[in-house]
Amino acid sequence: MYTSLLVRYGEISLKGNNRPYFEDKLLANMRRALGDLPPRMMRKTFGRVFVDLHDDLQAVSQRLQRVFGIISMSPVVTAPLELEAIKKAALAVLKDSPGTTFKVQTQRPNKRFPLTSPEVNQQLGAYLLTHNQDQKVDVHTPDRVIHVEIRDEGAYIYSRIIPGPGGLPVGVTGRGLLLISGGIDSPVAGYMGLKRGLELTALHFYSFPFTSERSKEKVIDLCRVLAGYSGPFRLVVAPFTAIQKAIRQHCPEEFYVTIMRRMMFRIARAVAAKEDALAILTGESLGQVASQTLQSMAVINKVVDLPVLRPLVAWDKSEIIEVARRIGTYDISIRPYEDCCTLFVPRHPATKPPLARVEAAEKKLAVEELMDECLGNLEILTVEPEDTGI
Ligand code: ATP
Ligand code: MG
Repeated sequence: MYTSLLVRYGEISLKGNNRPYFEDKLLANMRRALGDLPPRMMRKTFGRVFVDLHDDLQAVSQRLQRVFGIISMSPVVTAPLELEAIKKAALAVLKDSPGTTFKVQTQRPNKRFPLTSPEVNQQLGAYLLTHNQDQKVDVHTPDRVIHVEIRDEGAYIYSRIIPGPGGLPVGVTGRGLLLISGGIDSPVAGYMGLKRGLELTALHFYSFPFTSERSKEKVIDLCRVLAGYSGPFRLVVAPFTAIQKAIRQHCPEEFYVTIMRRMMFRIARAVAAKEDALAILTGESLGQVASQTLQSMAVINKVVDLPVLRPLVAWDKSEIIEVARRIGTYDISIRPYEDCCTLFVPRHPATKPPLARVEAAEKKLAVEELMDECLGNLEILTVEPEDTGI
């Protein structure tokens, strides 16, 4: 019965001169998300988008619930500009939205329509009541509002509100390089970056054969879930075994993690430059482990001149897990394969590594050569969205 889906996008409208750019990105992202469904019209009007439906409300709305920038959606019945037709449409809309009380709320930008908005409210209210004995009008706190918009081209009637994911359209705030492990946190950090409009390139440090082929598969699978929110993106796999071996051979155990993470950040800096990424994203959360104290973060940050975004910095583990479950990464993250960091945890990692001592310890490493060898052997994959079956 629904002819189109009315899509609302909130925050974008606040962005002044950037607005057309934001809207174009949003529309392109919506088209991409609907790409496997039959082609359809999308019209941008009055700060909203109408998407034609072909009896596929469920499929369309499920896909658009993954498009950041969308605040909410309402399935709409279109009627010709005749009161009888509008009444029938309103009745169908009322029957399709749950509740026992309602009110009708009419807007009439088309002033040629012979009835005023209060008159339409009144006529429709009376009609709906006579056709639904169990329903009551409640103008203050109705279970649902039957919206009627009388425009030049026809009348739009809707009531249901389907929440969107909010945020900003992917791509409008630039590109971020996501450091992704197989853990729970970094995929959630990637999701939060996407939600704020970043496009991603992912970078994974891979320590074959310390970590198995399956741990790489796990990271690819996590990226496939993220790609469901952004479209395809690149995953760069960086060989890390030689660097870890060198650190273990030449550096004091208490600084293993600090130095390993400084090497990760240096390589990330170089990959970010190639990828035109403006920031590095990690899944770190303040105080969670030894390398996530402020002192450690400061020493690790020294090697990069890009902003390091840590979307989860103030989150508890339980909050991170909740989002991981909701977005579909949790079950993949808890697969049992080892991560290079878990293999490399010293008994007593420094929680307050002094910069001077870390720098002195690092002098024993052939930093430039190790980096060149890693950067010369990157594997670059394009990750496609997983088939979610929706
Ligand atoms: P996660 O659950 O994301 O693994 P974590 O709480 O286990 O995070 P660490 O293992 O110390 O914390 O890693 C902190 C961050 O460093 C990760 O969130 C991720 O951004 C990055 N990171 C860790 N290991 C790797 C890796 N093998 N490849 C790429 N990035 C990594
Ligand atoms: Mg980890």
